[in-house]
Amino acid sequence: MALNLIYPEYEITRNADRCINCRVCERQCANDVHGYIDEIERMVCDDSKCVNCHRCVSLCPTRALKITKSGNTYKENANWSARIINELYKQADTGGVLLSGMGNPLDYPVYFDKILLNASQVTNPSIDPLREPMETKVFLGAKPHNIERGEDGRIVSKLPPQLSLSMPVMFSAMSYGSLSYNAHESLARAAEAVGIYYNTGEGGLHENFYQYGKNTIVQVASGRFGVHPHYLNSGAAIEIKMGQGAKPGIGGHLPGTKIVGDISRTRMIPEGSDAISPAPHHDIYSIEDLRQLVYSLKEASGYKKPVIVKIAAVHNVAAIASGIARSGADIIAIDGFRGGTGAAPTRMQGHVGIPIELALASVDTRLRDEGIRDRVSLVVGGSIRSSADIVKAVALGADCVYIGTAALLALGCHLCRTCYAGKCNWGIATQMPDLVKRLNPDLGFQRLTNLMTAWRHEIKEMMGGMGINSIESLKGNRLMLRGVGLNETELGILGIRHAGG
Ligand code: SF4
Ligand code: SF4
Ligand code: SF4
Repeated sequence: MALNLIYPEYEITRNADRCINCRVCERQCANDVHGYIDEIERMVCDDSKCVNCHRCVSLCPTRALKITKSGNTYKENANWSARIINELYKQADTGGVLLSGMGNPLDYPVYFDKILLNASQVTNPSIDPLREPMETKVFLGAKPHNIERGEDGRIVSKLPPQLSLSMPVMFSAMSYGSLSYNAHESLARAAEAVGIYYNTGEGGLHENFYQYGKNTIVQVASGRFGVHPHYLNSGAAIEIKMGQGAKPGIGGHLPGTKIVGDISRTRMIPEGSDAISPAPHHDIYSIEDLRQLVYSLKEASGYKKPVIVKIAAVHNVAAIASGIARSGADIIAIDGFRGGTGAAPTRMQGHVGIPIELALASVDTRLRDEGIRDRVSLVVGGSIRSSADIVKAVALGADCVYIGTAALLALGCHLCRTCYAGKCNWGIATQMPDLVKRLNPDLGFQRLTNLMTAWRHEIKEMMGGMGINSIESLKGNRLMLRGVGLNETELGILGIRHAGG
């Protein structure tokens, strides 16, 4: 007989005075939590299936529902928390590897929250972004070391291919297959409207989205799904994914049940077959091998597009980045250990990698020390949550950031962290037609555009407060940062002083 040791994590409270038995909650929950019993003429629920996605709470017309964290407690102690006990019970039940979505939730330091920005007072006056020009435009790609001029004084230095962005933000790689068609359409249209880029992830590019090519980064991952010459030439840049923050050192797995219809055609693999990306690229075992792939992709795209190499932030990230900068790559993307994804093994997600703030500072410092910082642009991701995180990342040395989870939150995601189950009640991380249509791409596009408009304004305000009128002047300007509650080692790696000093 099966032991039922796990008490539901959430409790659903239904206010009987408010409930009108409309059964909206029943229809909206893909997890079959709510039901109506004719005999007692009442709604009932099975709390154990609830993932706290808030869909029913948001759509209940009388606000009759409330979800609370269960007040039931195990006999926990400082060593054995309820989370660890629950995870152990689950594995004893199933014998399986635990999966989680949406990034590392554990209680490690968030360095962005321990860094404060400067503001001008008295001298070096602040700038009013409403009345004076502020430049948030950035160009990503290798820059020439010197600017050479011809006899007529004109610049003759040849600029390698660049990405031009209206603000230092891009939507990070999230594949069609892990995300729904409507989520991808929302991202592509918002990237076009804002003048930034979105990223195909490793699932190829749906034929309907080739029209957004000039705002698209096409990804080449170890599985090479959906990669062909037309694909490589359709985007504005090509990204080689060597690793990702949510699961450094391992590959990806989209179950065969999700490889249907357009997803199978776009990935160029048979319906029903598992899409497994191997942990390594089987043709890359050194920087020289990586260089071969970088130049193969440049050759295939006529040397017209920058090549990005994306890696996870790991212990020796600065040395790895130094090698990549010498490999011919134009942009390095670094994904911190908080990086989100649809499905990652819980242990890899929670215990592998390093914080993006430390990785970024150490990479920027090393590339500067080696005199090769201008050979590459740096893009960082892994839980950029607000415009303040962006400003701090740029001041630590980033040219631009990638956002993934924040973009999905704008689309309605409630961080229930069960994307791997394929039953996203908000129509984002699902391929079930009834659920996909819950995300209206017109609304999704508008909400993403609103978020970027708001962040751009806030970035200008923070820059203006520092007396800086161009994002280029902020890049790597660590004098604008101070740490609070950080020790000497942390301050040393971040290259900043403690507040008050
Ligand atoms: S949606 Fe609200 S009002 Fe309708 S049945 Fe559910 S709890 Fe009752
Ligand atoms: S899983 Fe979501 S929709 Fe279903 S009961 Fe829980 S909060 Fe409501
Ligand atoms: S995308 Fe959907 S399934 Fe994933 S965390 Fe957000 S709401 Fe949950």
